[in-house]
Amino acid sequence: MPDVKLAPYAVRDENSRGRRFPEPPPRYRSEFQRDRDRIVHSAAFRRLEYKTQVFVNHEGDMYRTRLTHSLEVAQIGRAIARILHLNEDLTESIALAHDLGHTPFGHAGQEALNRCMRDHGGFEHNLQSLRVVDELEEKYADFNGLNLNFETREGILKHCSMADARALGDVGERFLTRQQPSLEAQLANVADEIAYNSHDVDDGLRAGLISVEQLCEVRLFREQYECVVTSYPDLSRRRVIHEVVRRLIDRQVSDLVDSSRARMAEAAPASIDDVRGAPGALIGFGSGMRQLNLELKRFLRKALYRHYRVMRMSAKADRVITSLFEAFMNDACLLPPEYADKVRVQTEAAGVAGRARVVADYIAGMTDRYAISEYERLFNPMKAT
Ligand code: MG
Repeated sequence: MPDVKLAPYAVRDENSRGRRFPEPPPRYRSEFQRDRDRIVHSAAFRRLEYKTQVFVNHEGDMYRTRLTHSLEVAQIGRAIARILHLNEDLTESIALAHDLGHTPFGHAGQEALNRCMRDHGGFEHNLQSLRVVDELEEKYADFNGLNLNFETREGILKHCSMADARALGDVGERFLTRQQPSLEAQLANVADEIAYNSHDVDDGLRAGLISVEQLCEVRLFREQYECVVTSYPDLSRRRVIHEVVRRLIDRQVSDLVDSSRARMAEAAPASIDDVRGAPGALIGFGSGMRQLNLELKRFLRKALYRHYRVMRMSAKADRVITSLFEAFMNDACLLPPEYADKVRVQTEAAGVAGRARVVADYIAGMTDRYAISEYERLFNPMKAT
């Protein structure tokens, strides 16, 4: 169904490079609605509910998880896609799928698993998200994975090494030819940034790991904060923070819309091929906002992501992931039968690296609490196995 409101350089069903395994077109939906719906029905998507964004799942019910983060990214992405006449369904699909490959325990988990996989091809959550939708979901009668459209898969793969790009085929190509992805992919990427910068401020304050006083060193926050407390001197602290966070999002979104429009007016792409051939991304902040954003990111890295309480959790996560990996590598009989079978097949096909990849897939798929209970079952003699 062609959508007349879409810009000529937006991705649409008609200019899509299609699915890996050809399928009849959906009867009532667009191709990208179908992609989104498949993602929502995947097991990996449901598991995002119990995976850490910054705070481990059991630390509190109010914090963002990977699931609520992905929904916020989708919301921001969709809103902007509509303003810019881009494909909303594609933007939403990429946003909902972008973190499917995340390990338990956020970045600490990913770093630990990458270290474990050092001699076996490494581990990268971005590549893993693609692996989830291309291979690991086992639901459909005719193929492994979700058989998503090229543009959704391309959007999931935000970055990758040249070696990986060569191995990946179609979605890796643009890294070798230095082409840009679709505008929808570019948008989902920045929407991710806007979402986590803003919600990490909110969650960090809620957890008491960072303070308003500290945040006032950051220009982007201070501007909004002063504005809110001047206009509403008697507002409760909780509402002030919410008001500031919503204005933070609004300010970044407005800049993104204006700056992207200006860049597109200048480049004047007539088609998606023009978008791909442009020397740089057309969706992005202006230089002023890029600077402000960087300042906020630097602050969060220093004050929140490296806060000693976050570091303690990271150290625990590291131990859990590393111990699980070593235990399963030393003895595949400890794995649940379906993974033990895969280990057998993959060891025959690719040796130790094949075996390690199956173990990494198993661990990466775990939720925080599942990883903790697997650890308990394996290492605590008082726990049932
Ligand atoms: Mg994300």
